[in-house]
Amino acid sequence: MNDRVIAIDGPAGSGKSTVARRVADALGWSYLDTGAMYRAVTVRVLALGLAPDDLESVARVAASCVLDVDDRVIIDGRDVSERLRDDDVNLAVSAVAANPGVRTAMVERQRAFARYQTRGTVVEGRDITTVVFPRAGLKVYLTASDEERARRRGDEDPTSVARRDAADRSRAASPLRQDVDARVVDTTDRTVEDVVEEIVTWAKTLS
Ligand code: C5P
Repeated sequence: MNDRVIAIDGPAGSGKSTVARRVADALGWSYLDTGAMYRAVTVRVLALGLAPDDLESVARVAASCVLDVDDRVIIDGRDVSERLRDDDVNLAVSAVAANPGVRTAMVERQRAFARYQTRGTVVEGRDITTVVFPRAGLKVYLTASDEERARRRGDEDPTSVARRDAADRSRAASPLRQDVDARVVDTTDRTVEDVVEEIVTWAKTLS
């Protein structure tokens, strides 16, 4: 069991980023937004003029890039923070994230990130509980109704969110699924504070 990792998965708009960041703050732990990593690689792929479904070239970019995901997201020396949620990135990120070579490279970096934190890490994404940290001390699966998730992703067209979710759930490489050990939290009618408090209470039982 890895008691220094809290793994959180769920679909788009389930509240992962907000909740994970606040849980990390409350515990004094680090926070890792793995969606930002796949988005940053996608921005770089588009900037290089590559097709998002060009398996070999895209995997090469993911394996060789210098990527820093913190308050700002920097890839190969470029600050792409403001590009991460643009429409073309929303459209292309599912293909980039379905690429097994890209996943191998990102998972390696995610594990390394957690290894180097002195306290602990709250990591959120789609395959964190199932693939990246299957032995995480605490696993959480966040959900919310379709309507609520679409509302929260107000900047992204609901059909785009639905298409991304369907792609993330049906892909062969590390699809989004509810891990058997995950505690399921439906955030639809709950405040962020309430959900954070519940997860922090669970976290306090970690050794
Ligand atoms: O979390 P966010 O919506 O920013 O993630 C963007 C995309 O990155 C997801 O739709 C998914 O395709 C991909 N992703 C992934 N695995 C993760 C995190 C994100 O495949 N661990």
